[in-house]
Amino acid sequence: MLHYHAFLIKYAEIGIKGKNRGLFELDLVKQIKIALKRCEGTFSVDRTSGRIFVNCKSDYDYDEVVENLSEVFGIVGICPMVILPVEPIDQLRRDVAAFFGEEYPDRNVTFKVHTRRLARNYPEDSMEINAQLGEEILKTYPETKVDVHEPDVMVHLEIRERIYVYSHVIPGPGGLPVGSGGKAMLCLSGGIDSPVAGWMCAKRGLKLDATYFNAPPYTSERALQKVIDLARIVSKYTGPIYLHNINFTEIQLYIYEKCPHDELTIIMRRYMMRIAEAIAKRTDCGALITGESIGQVASQTMRSLAVTNAVCSLPVFRPLIAFDKEDIVTISKKIGTYETSILPYEDCCTIFVAKHPVTKPLLDVIERHEHLLDEKIDEMVERALNTDEIIIVDRDMTRVIKHREDALVEGM
Ligand code: ATP
Ligand code: MG
Repeated sequence: MLHYHAFLIKYAEIGIKGKNRGLFELDLVKQIKIALKRCEGTFSVDRTSGRIFVNCKSDYDYDEVVENLSEVFGIVGICPMVILPVEPIDQLRRDVAAFFGEEYPDRNVTFKVHTRRLARNYPEDSMEINAQLGEEILKTYPETKVDVHEPDVMVHLEIRERIYVYSHVIPGPGGLPVGSGGKAMLCLSGGIDSPVAGWMCAKRGLKLDATYFNAPPYTSERALQKVIDLARIVSKYTGPIYLHNINFTEIQLYIYEKCPHDELTIIMRRYMMRIAEAIAKRTDCGALITGESIGQVASQTMRSLAVTNAVCSLPVFRPLIAFDKEDIVTISKKIGTYETSILPYEDCCTIFVAKHPVTKPLLDVIERHEHLLDEKIDEMVERALNTDEIIIVDRDMTRVIKHREDALVEGM
């Protein structure tokens, strides 16, 4: 394999953000640097005239670098490049033909050469360079053909202070760099849907925090571990996630004791959203994210969603709202959460479900029944909020912060 000196990073959408483009590029550079920290070797990431380059300053492992860059949202293409000195056209012909031969050993391809001549003092213009290099490649490998309309492969040259040559484009994940859109609070259960919902929003540039509602001793330590494992998989794409583990037991039991059983789930969902929103507000999150999808279960009919939504003042992002389960499963397999999501540990919602939950709740009826909780619910919510356990989850580490004061010290 060729030794590549650098990678050109292609990004699509962030290129069209007008005045904000610079900021988006900085976010992308930051994420690229984080990804490269995981790789053996020394690199610099440079931004010049609408391009981001990763320059390899030492030996490195090609597969490792490509794999890590392939996870960075905002990148649409990764182009391994060879860098040549600015050299006369005769030498350039030989070097580019050799490059082509290494890149396409079977050579049975149609091609086109495309040159951007940014160094205006290079003697030949770009048309001339394209023609000469094309001619040399044809001469060296007679089995190739030029096709200017639909070539199998493109050979790109950028003539700057040096000459950059690349051809292969390895697809990146697309989207926007994590953090460029702010931070949101993901309601993360142990199921299939919510990790996918979080991943989708991260792909659109949101950084994630997460809240998990736990019901010990009705749910086991293993159920919590499963949620941590899911957060860890998602954090591969998003960077560290602060997971708030909320003890929801006494609230659930209290709702169970006081409210009509066919409304348990919906009332419980409303308390979850209230609590998640309170944590979101104190941790600077601008929205909530859930894995809800219309009609998936009784608490996700249009009417149920409306009743749940009514307790929130922050926007609630539901990226899976119109997805079939099958499509959600496909994404969860792709991002690597599926196998963990289907582990059979019980979730707090499944323990207290009614046989026939309401599917068309009315807001005023639900609100009236919630008044049955007036005596103790506020202090319970307060307690749940004040005893949240914060678990910092990253791709290869987990750290538990027991007290909120410690989290504040850590700059949350
Ligand atoms: P999932 O597969 O994500 O668990 P679900 O199909 O089981 O979703 P519900 O249990 O109705 O659906 O939950 C809908 C959404 O509410 C979830 O996608 C998640 O965002 C949130 N949610 C449900 N249970 C919890 C929980 N225990 N902790 C945090 N969020 C939860
Ligand atoms: Mg679930």
